[in-house]
Amino acid sequence: MEFEAVIGMEVHVEINSRSKVFCACSTDFHAPPNTNVCPVCLGMPGALPVLNRDMVEKSIMVGLALNCQISRWSKMDRKNYFYPDLAKNYQISQYDLPLCHHGWIDIEADGETRRIRITRAHMEEDTARNTHTIAGGLSGVDFNRSGVPLLEIVTEPDIRSAREAYDYLTALKQLLQYLDVSDCNMEEGSLRAEANVSVRPVGSDRLGTKTEIKNVASFSGVQKAIDYEIRRQVEVIRSGGTIIQETRGWDPDRGITFSQRAKESAHDYRYFPEPDLVPIVVDEDWEQRIRQRLPEFPADRRKRFITQYGLSAYDAGVLTQTRAMADFYESTVSRGADAKKAANWIMVELQGRLTEANLDISRSPVSPDNLARLIALIDDGTISGKIAKDVLNQMFADGSDPDTIVREKGLSQISDAGAVESVVREVVRNNPDQVAQFRAGKEKVFAFLVGQVMKASRGKANPALVNDLLRKVLNEEGDA
Ligand SMILES: [Zn+2]
Repeated sequence: MEFEAVIGMEVHVEINSRSKVFCACSTDFHAPPNTNVCPVCLGMPGALPVLNRDMVEKSIMVGLALNCQISRWSKMDRKNYFYPDLAKNYQISQYDLPLCHHGWIDIEADGETRRIRITRAHMEEDTARNTHTIAGGLSGVDFNRSGVPLLEIVTEPDIRSAREAYDYLTALKQLLQYLDVSDCNMEEGSLRAEANVSVRPVGSDRLGTKTEIKNVASFSGVQKAIDYEIRRQVEVIRSGGTIIQETRGWDPDRGITFSQRAKESAHDYRYFPEPDLVPIVVDEDWEQRIRQRLPEFPADRRKRFITQYGLSAYDAGVLTQTRAMADFYESTVSRGADAKKAANWIMVELQGRLTEANLDISRSPVSPDNLARLIALIDDGTISGKIAKDVLNQMFADGSDPDTIVREKGLSQISDAGAVESVVREVVRNNPDQVAQFRAGKEKVFAFLVGQVMKASRGKANPALVNDLLRKVLNEEGDA
């Protein structure tokens, strides 16, 4: 019997509001433990929550970007459970009336477009953070995270492979970053992904018992964990066992999932409407105003880059990976740089240096303006492409502009035919063996001689001129 996987994803994303969702405390991740706290987010009896408007608007932005319907009327609910990181003994979340519902996102998977339906996106508060130091035998709770705005995005079980889950997460993260609603930093926990995985015989429309994989630190980890879990479930069923509904963790070192606890059902939480908060009413007018703030989405921008700038699909994909990258590119082109040359310089030379320095392009020491100037200096023959890479190194190191570097270091290319010709003749004189080989028909030696001329001019001779003059000199002396 053949099996197929049925996968749904739940993503928790911390929304980048400056203050928490129900109080005015800062959401700064780097503050010392338990300094961003007040009676509300410490869960003191009698403290009253007030909903953060920015959180609601950013959640609606996400909902609209995910083609969701926005509820005209929704509410917050109490989800009751006890845990040391939850001082109130309940989490304020949304139960039966989420803010956003019935959406979808198209993803590219294996060269084809797949539509993943979005069940819902609802607002809630993050919990505090427990830290356990096994060596010291101590546990601590940091309430800075308690009450940080959290949006939970849930898909229908439309995903069929671990790879597709990875592609979904990548597309979702890209969209959230374009919307500028979260930094999506997985190491700091701003984005957390959980997968619900079940298997069933191919052709069946019944859903198998699912397990939930939690606490995986990266998208590639999620992909590996799902792959493992699918194989495990198929093996259990083939050997006559049954799948238990449970939460499973992922051990990246051993490459296995393991049982953590039996999964709770919704009724275990005794949800009821939060009595301390008013309902959330979103009228047509408010929704329209938020819709107008939406940026161009990654897929649209990718298509436009292909038609407007004549880029390949691959280049357009790389350059629209992040909004900052796409903005940098368009800014460089708008300052007069050739569209294809700008693409190459950004994707290869600049990105290489950024990766090495572990910097995002939004913090690039080289500005779009200076990069456009550098490309112009190559185009007008002032410097060669090779020298330009050295100039870029200095621009990257100290943020200086290319004109100043070229002027101060005397890097201008030698385009004077007389000056280049004298170097060419000198090289021909000093390399009689290679010249003889060339004249005997060994064309490959030509590149060596070009290299010698470039070296003798310390890389400053105009390469096109060197080619022409070297051929001329070799031929005329050959005739003589
Ligand atoms: Zn607070």
